[in-house]
Amino acid sequence: MNITINKTTEPKQKPQDESSLGFGKIFTDHMFLMDYTPEKGWYDARIVPFGPIPVHPASTVLHYGAEVFEGLKAYRTADGTVQLFRPEANAQRIIDSAERLCMPAPSVEDFVEALKTFVSLEKDWVPHSEGASLYLRPFIYGDDHALGVHTVHHNVFCIIASPSGSYYPEGINPVKIMIEDEDVRAVRGGTGYTKCGGNYAASMRAGERAVQKGFTQVLWLDGVERKYIEEVGSMNVMFKIDGEIVTPALLGSILPGVTRRSCVELLKAEGYKVSERLLSVDELIDACENGKLEEAWGTGTAAVVSPIGELSYKGKNYIVNDFKIGEVTQHLYDELTSIQWGKAPDKYGWVEKLD
Ligand SMILES: *Cc1c(COP(=O)(O)O)cnc(C)c1O
Repeated sequence: MNITINKTTEPKQKPQDESSLGFGKIFTDHMFLMDYTPEKGWYDARIVPFGPIPVHPASTVLHYGAEVFEGLKAYRTADGTVQLFRPEANAQRIIDSAERLCMPAPSVEDFVEALKTFVSLEKDWVPHSEGASLYLRPFIYGDDHALGVHTVHHNVFCIIASPSGSYYPEGINPVKIMIEDEDVRAVRGGTGYTKCGGNYAASMRAGERAVQKGFTQVLWLDGVERKYIEEVGSMNVMFKIDGEIVTPALLGSILPGVTRRSCVELLKAEGYKVSERLLSVDELIDACENGKLEEAWGTGTAAVVSPIGELSYKGKNYIVNDFKIGEVTQHLYDELTSIQWGKAPDKYGWVEKLD
């Protein structure tokens, strides 16, 4: 891939106080852009100064939601090296997401090369403090300038980056989760397994209602029977029930998280009993009532793991593990963050260093 680089003449002041970065609020000096048409394929790969992108009022993305995205981080290790965590998995996932929306995506090699070239240029923006990282947001949107509904002709691939603070500035605190039995996020055959913007649009109402009731997020049930556990907000979910680690199987309506997969692989390698299977809400509530639910946690790039301290279902609340982070949850957090920040050897080959 031939990437042209047009550096900004007005670099921004980098944040002095990394403790107040928050998430996704400030952006680096540049962005990566590349266009696609069926005739030309992907063309004009370029890194340009960060700024607004002109959008035609009839652009497909504005009307028909043609958009898929990814989320991953660049980490700075103690010796100053900058590294990515399993970027090929994100590359493959955006290919799968785009395919479902009938959109093109760059090859795995081009996606990773674009990311690495871009992050190398923005290297000084990768935060130095504990737990902080450079959040990377690659996305593809459909951009035909016509209102007819058809497969998009012109697409744009873009990468932006945002230095983001530690997800847990005050230490890891368990969250309260409401099991949603009205709205659904996705159905099999739909777009649940893709990271598309539309899934998020459809999940806002339930999320908002949960927040108003004092919960952090919703736990989704399947879209047909409202019977099986799916995932939490923008995280996958795992439970330790009577010694067994259970996470919902990937049957098309759940996002195949890179963190989920890493947790499953890590736990299996360490000899834990891990089952990817159907888990009904009745089985989960039974486990709560019989004291067999030992731990519950969400998994995702932003938080790594997020312990669940309370579950609410049909107006009843169930406390999990005395509202404390569980042993397996803590272990996963420690193992994954150690690999990501280069504090532990990369024994599974998950880390991709920038040169
Ligand atoms: C991104 C995302 C996840 C987590 O995926 P990771 O690859 O682990 O970050 C889980 N669920 C949904 C709906 C998501 O969008």
